[in-house]
Amino acid sequence: MPIDLHLHTHHSDGTFAPEEVVRRAKSLKMTAISITDHDTLSALPAARQAAGADLEILTGVELTAVSHARELHVLGYGFRDEDTAMQDTIRRARERRHGRIQLMIDQLNARGIEVTRVEVEAIAGEGTSIGRPHLAEALLKKQVVHSLNEAFDRYIGDQAPCFVKNAILTTADAARLIRQAGGVAVLAHPYRLVEDDWIPSLVADGIQGIEAYHSDHDPSVTRHYREIARESNLLTTGGSDCHGFRKSKGPLIGTVTVPDLCLEELKQALKGSDPFGSKRV
Ligand code: AMP
Ligand code: FE
Ligand code: FE
Ligand code: ZN
Repeated sequence: MPIDLHLHTHHSDGTFAPEEVVRRAKSLKMTAISITDHDTLSALPAARQAAGADLEILTGVELTAVSHARELHVLGYGFRDEDTAMQDTIRRARERRHGRIQLMIDQLNARGIEVTRVEVEAIAGEGTSIGRPHLAEALLKKQVVHSLNEAFDRYIGDQAPCFVKNAILTTADAARLIRQAGGVAVLAHPYRLVEDDWIPSLVADGIQGIEAYHSDHDPSVTRHYREIARESNLLTTGGSDCHGFRKSKGPLIGTVTVPDLCLEELKQALKGSDPFGSKRV
């Protein structure tokens, strides 16, 4: 039965409401999903309510964290969502997101591009964990660019001139936070972001799994990360990373095949989870 462990809603940079994600998951006959919004858990209650008993919702989050001077994404699964340290950290991360969007707007303005925080916040909506896709959409709406990709390539992508880092955590901080809340920490979509020879240090930081199945990974890339996972004794996970219509290819939910075994092994790891975040075998 299909599962998808990497989904976004409009509580961060996706375009679907949690209920819409659940509706689509059910119509695709999925048995389990995880909503992994950036730095927020606010989609969870609505998703759980909409899911009822027919669809399992695994608690999830996608945290931004620095390693090797690069911003990476760390997925957290199955942690206690009421955990105080988790709640506190993601609130600080969301606050940082607002300040950081303003810094990127300042950089754009300095280059003669007129875009305001009010415009970007209007696209994101009240209470949303704001991010670059909202800024990209504002630039598209103002016809500064012709596509969201162009906004990233020319202005706000990781290597582009107006990019400002977002992370308030290191990968070790992120893994510790997730594990101390009883969860499992997984390196998200490593392709083109993470050098293979960083893996040992990420494992030493507390990373327990790797997202081998992802919409950016073709079958040979997935095989490559499964092999790395096997060698390094890591779990494998996967999902589509659906952002609704805020991705050039449109809604990705259901487009990535993730083996059920991934979820079973993840649950096994969660059962063995200890509150002190010490390394698991
Ligand atoms: P942020 O969390 O604000 O740093 O924004 C990261 C998000 O921007 C990612 O989760 C993707 O949704 C999106 N993103 C990052 N790089 C690109 C890109 N090159 N093209 C399109 N979307 C991107
Ligand atoms: Fe995103
Ligand atoms: Fe990501
Ligand atoms: Zn994501």
